[in-house]
Amino acid sequence: MPKAQETILEIHLDALTHNYNYLKSKLNPNTKFLAVVKAFAYGSDSVEIAKHLETLNADYFAVAYAREGVALRDAGITIPILVLHPQVVNFKTIIERCLEPSIYSPKILREFIKIAEEQKQSDYPVHIKFNTGLNRLGFWHNDVDYIANQLKNTSSIVVKSLFSHLAASEDENEREFTLRQITDFKTIAADFESQMDYSPWLHLCNTSGVINYPEAHFDMIRCGIGLYGFGNSATEDQNLKPIAKLKSIISQIHLIEKEETVGYNRAYTSKGFEKTATIPIGHADGISRQFGNEKGFVFINGQSAPIIGNVCMDMIMVNITNIDCKEGDEVIIFDENHKASAIAESTKTISYEVLTAISQRVKRLFFKQVL
Ligand SMILES: *Cc1c(COP(=O)(O)O)cnc(C)c1O
Repeated sequence: MPKAQETILEIHLDALTHNYNYLKSKLNPNTKFLAVVKAFAYGSDSVEIAKHLETLNADYFAVAYAREGVALRDAGITIPILVLHPQVVNFKTIIERCLEPSIYSPKILREFIKIAEEQKQSDYPVHIKFNTGLNRLGFWHNDVDYIANQLKNTSSIVVKSLFSHLAASEDENEREFTLRQITDFKTIAADFESQMDYSPWLHLCNTSGVINYPEAHFDMIRCGIGLYGFGNSATEDQNLKPIAKLKSIISQIHLIEKEETVGYNRAYTSKGFEKTATIPIGHADGISRQFGNEKGFVFINGQSAPIIGNVCMDMIMVNITNIDCKEGDEVIIFDENHKASAIAESTKTISYEVLTAISQRVKRLFFKQVL
């Protein structure tokens, strides 16, 4: 692997293949695989990731917002795309670009039917979202009659799937709550089906759901974080490979005397004669200010260097007093050995946020083979 000569996010497509095959191995062969590629495929690159997953025969994609789906269509992605959180203002575009909306409220249902009818659609595929305890988006069980009535009065849409989302699938202590969500989802689906003359697909599980609730895979699963190499537990992290490695370089080294300060607001004061390195990555690249003041760290020649003082927009300073290194040396922010989940833990967040924060300013480099 050539050493980084500037800040880069390496995206390893062979690791993506590994993760896809691993997650797939958890499924019954008939269960469909929906790959969640929202938020630039969790901070990597939605187009390259979707293209690669298409070659692996993923069945479906999901994005959060309509414009993310448009970007995939513009790039030539042809498989179905579920838009998890659309707004009324997007409905015309959704239909024009063959995107499939999540219908999550009575208002959204009425408005989508109205626009589908205006656009002279028949049997336009939609996905009905039920709330079973996350209390975020979705119809309630007692909306089923209302939905059924609306559907009886129009031929403009067809319900391709019913789905819900688990609130704590990664948390063993919440097993009872999750089992109740699964039961409630089955009850709602049965009630819905009893009022229709067709049976939509059912789906409920995200990555941790796939791993922890094999009995709840239904017709399709929706994996995001697992594809990118994180399983929300130490055991599962071992089975997966992080696809993204964030690397940079030492721009400059300074030797400072005792009680000198480093960075804006003079937030760090040296405790003695110290050595600092300045790295070209800052909060505009996705290194949160929460990482400053020795909460976050980077790795140089295998050793941990804490971020000192405040994170700047375009750079951080790290303490390298005890590290043998020189200007131009490579810096690892996270990779397969220094995982994003570890930096997440030490900065009181989760791998999802560390990954999705990596901004579009950071250059992406794609690798197809293990190097
Ligand atoms: C983001 C999201 C997922 C993916 O969850 P992971 O934990 O990343 O696998 C699945 N379903 C819905 C509704 C989501 O919003």
